[in-house]
Amino acid sequence: MHPINHSDPSNPEAFLRDTLDARRKAGLERKLRRLKGAPGPRVTLNGREVLLLCSNNYLGIAGDARVKDAARQALETFGCGATGSRLISGNLEPYEQLERKLAEFKGAEAALVFTSGYQTNVGTVSSLMGEGDAIFSDALNHASLIDGARLSRAQVNIFNHCDPSDLEQKLASRTTARRKLIVTESVFSMDGDLAPLRDIAFLARKYNALLMVDEAHATGIFGETGAGVVEALGLRGAVHVQMGTFSKALGSLGGYVAGSRDLISYLTQHARSFIFTTGLPPAVLAASAAALRIVRQEPERRQALWRNVRRLRDGLQKLGFAVGPEQSQILPLRLGESRLTMAACRLLLRHGIFAQGIRPPTVPPGTARLRLTPMANHTPQDIDLALAAFKKLQLALQTRHARSVRVSGAAQDHSAAAPAFVKR
Ligand code: PMP
Repeated sequence: MHPINHSDPSNPEAFLRDTLDARRKAGLERKLRRLKGAPGPRVTLNGREVLLLCSNNYLGIAGDARVKDAARQALETFGCGATGSRLISGNLEPYEQLERKLAEFKGAEAALVFTSGYQTNVGTVSSLMGEGDAIFSDALNHASLIDGARLSRAQVNIFNHCDPSDLEQKLASRTTARRKLIVTESVFSMDGDLAPLRDIAFLARKYNALLMVDEAHATGIFGETGAGVVEALGLRGAVHVQMGTFSKALGSLGGYVAGSRDLISYLTQHARSFIFTTGLPPAVLAASAAALRIVRQEPERRQALWRNVRRLRDGLQKLGFAVGPEQSQILPLRLGESRLTMAACRLLLRHGIFAQGIRPPTVPPGTARLRLTPMANHTPQDIDLALAAFKKLQLALQTRHARSVRVSGAAQDHSAAAPAFVKR
């Protein structure tokens, strides 16, 4: 092996090392954590049981006995893998059953299941739009929507987050676009706020644009039957592409689109991330179908989730944290700086609470945060335990703030002092 010359940008090894060094120095290096045990409100992390406060298993369905039984039975009947792409040999029976149920759940003519939510968005946006078309995308949309838009070669117009007037201005100014697509999440994954969907649907109609709504974090949680915000607002007829995933509240894996029969046939023909990949394992499809039944039949899970969200949010506010008004089950606690956020995460872990820090590029620079997500099967005592740990965090932050005021004389300079709990 040649020694690495760090100043030579053409040396591929130096490139890797330098890029990793830069990430580390910026406090942005990510590490995989190894979790043990069944998915539930508590998990084992580094040999210690901790309360899980950062999972997307919002309704606690991933570990449900009925879901596991369904997966086990499908495994026995159909084996482990789909063995081919869906258009060749991988379109197993459980796919079609699941898609029928899904279409019914979403109030759509038809549905199509992809191997993941990421693949659903990439394949759907990039196949619906092309050169000469215009995409209008919320500034905080998920990476999969951004990647799909980039791949499409359409002109991408980013509108200000949840801002219909900015969207309208952009729609009105792109008069030469052949076709238009507006795309937004309904519940934003990292902020937990809700898109102004009624206004957006109005604009889609006014400007003759297709409307795609990503309900990854709304499905199972919002609406009378748990179908999402589109159901809750009575907008099913106004949203052309209802996207979602089984990987969050439904505790399984696989993304989907629900919409018209023509839309589903079109995606089957054109979405490359649907065509050129192997189908999902049958056990996963059966788990998703069982989870869908639970979501529809057990609204009490949603009620339990909302009780926990309220208890946590009220408790955090009493402690002086700014968590904003409750809009969804996702409570972002913004700390700003990445190192501070990771230090807060470590402090909470020492007190038995696992709330992973979220840093750029997942969120915009300067907005690192703890993304707190209670679950339906946390007990009130679990939430109180979490609040006791947050009280310790608040004390540490106040001490840090007081020190930074003493050191620099400027209360707003949070990086001036390095208190004991922040490891540089
Ligand atoms: N859309 C949104 C809004 C998401 O948050 C995610 C997952 N983080 C996805 C799509 C991708 O879904 P999946 O994890 O099923 O690939």
